[in-house]
Amino acid sequence: MERDSGTFCKLCGRRIVQGKGHYIVRIEVFAAGEPPEKLVWLSGKGDFKAEVNHLLQEIAKADPRELEDQVYKFFKFDLCRSCQREYIKNPLPTK
Ligand SMILES: [Zn+2]
Repeated sequence: MERDSGTFCKLCGRRIVQGKGHYIVRIEVFAAGEPPEKLVWLSGKGDFKAEVNHLLQEIAKADPRELEDQVYKFFKFDLCRSCQREYIKNPLPTK
């Protein structure tokens, strides 16, 4: 899966040497009060097929925009050491 034999910093584009100043940022976004597993996660418990069918029904009857709001979003990106230092000062930039 590795491209150009390395990991590259998402912010500055520099190559990150594995094991030396490699930081990973993970961001999860989902609607509060609405367990994300209801729409996008399968618990793995019980009848798998029934769960999938239920999930598809939920999606079919949901308003697309509402669904977009409810869907669980997950972001993950790599940072080098210097970008990590800057990033943690202001993880949610406001413009
Ligand atoms: Zn960087």
